[in-house]
Amino acid sequence: MKFIETRGNDGINPLETTFSEAILSPIASFGGLYVPKELPDLGEPFLTKHLGSSYKELASDLLATLDIDIEPSVIAEALSLYDKFDDPSNPVPVVKVRDDLYVSELYHGPTRAFKDMALQPFGVVLSSLAQKRGKEYLILAATSGDTGPAALETFKNRPNVRVVCLYPDGGTSDVQRLQMVTEDAPNLKVIGIHGDFDDAQSALKRLLSSESFNAALRAKNIELSAANSVNFGRIIFQTIYHVHSYLELVRQNVITMGEKIYLNVPSGNFGNALGGYYATKMGLPVEKIIIASNENNVLTRLINTGRYDLRGEKVVPTTSPAMDILISSNVERILFDFFGAVRAKELMQSLESNRFYALTDDETMKIQGLFAADYCNGAEGKGYIKEAYDAGYLMDPHTATCFKAYDCCATKSLKTIVYSTAEWTKFSPTIANALTGENDINDIDALNSIAHTANISIPKVIQELFSKPVVQDTVIDKENIEAEILKFL
Ligand SMILES: *Cc1c(COP(=O)(O)O)cnc(C)c1O
Repeated sequence: MKFIETRGNDGINPLETTFSEAILSPIASFGGLYVPKELPDLGEPFLTKHLGSSYKELASDLLATLDIDIEPSVIAEALSLYDKFDDPSNPVPVVKVRDDLYVSELYHGPTRAFKDMALQPFGVVLSSLAQKRGKEYLILAATSGDTGPAALETFKNRPNVRVVCLYPDGGTSDVQRLQMVTEDAPNLKVIGIHGDFDDAQSALKRLLSSESFNAALRAKNIELSAANSVNFGRIIFQTIYHVHSYLELVRQNVITMGEKIYLNVPSGNFGNALGGYYATKMGLPVEKIIIASNENNVLTRLINTGRYDLRGEKVVPTTSPAMDILISSNVERILFDFFGAVRAKELMQSLESNRFYALTDDETMKIQGLFAADYCNGAEGKGYIKEAYDAGYLMDPHTATCFKAYDCCATKSLKTIVYSTAEWTKFSPTIANALTGENDINDIDALNSIAHTANISIPKVIQELFSKPVVQDTVIDKENIEAEILKFL
């Protein structure tokens, strides 16, 4: 598989590039992204062939079909990390929650959120490429809560890769913070910032373009890379579970092979939904991809009105913080696929300079041919959490946003797969509030309260966090980040 660029080629970058180049240096010409030049048509024979396959067998054949320049032994090692999930024989359970609604649980990995689905194998692939090239890479990550723990977990003690993770001190849940500050490995550095997530993210962007910082890295022979969700190395692992979830419905005799379904995705940076889009493009029988947002509803407005409008907008904090985002980076890949590089560049440059773009009516209709969207506010989300709980299913606030979108957008009577992106343990205060009305409680009390109410146990990896020693205790002003990182390197 070869990769081309969403904003066209600048005459300096190669006209097309390999998978490994695209993941080591993820930023393309004119600030664009890498996209597959073409995708294979899997067709029904591929799906039928894998009805009896395990998750790993499906994944390994799908990646082989995509023909990426990663050695089979490295792919095998990367996929073996799914063996650490709760049930190695089925890392992604799909369970019935309502008559036509099935939940695909993407959170059974080590950090209890869906980021593990891609970051776990991605860590192996990136580290192996770095070793092969004999180079040291620095991964900088700014996190609002789920990416940080998942990135630290996957890169810990891996050769040739160091990770610096910036988080807003006081801006994450206790569980998320503990998942980061208790990570102990010589190649990891976690830095709390006095400020919010935007401060952490803009500090990171400044660093990436800082002359002195880049010169210091060059002097130490260290290359910069990124593990955020625009990296295609993450997207590729996010196509697999969409195919798997479809096959699960066939296996469970819920649908027959070839029957169309809805995919329903709680979305922020649009990586999860993009994986579903590529799976659909390769022939997965999908009627529509339903996008769920929270009060930061740029995606809902884009899909329903064709306008991406950030003028006067600010991120509002919500009960589904992993979706608190205004610039949803992976949408660019959809713009490219639907409208081509010239138009994608024009639209993205308009967003960057005017904080606004508008699709034509024709373009909007094309998008609406495959996507539908709605958003869910915090009170509605808690209502859905309580309703599902009363019917016997415990879910997190991100998953809950899908139920609103389902009620609005699943207009045909087809089966729907809702993607569950986090375990209840990561957002317990909101869930405790939804279930019992308790307010202002901290994570450990909320965890205990839910465990008691629902008569379930807290997973060991979460319970243990509260007694592990804090080894990453750096909390600084954002002006001092550069010096702190150089000290670590
Ligand atoms: C990252 C994340 C999302 C958003 O996924 P995108 O791929 O960025 O759209 C949703 N829910 C949870 C819990 C997440 O961690």
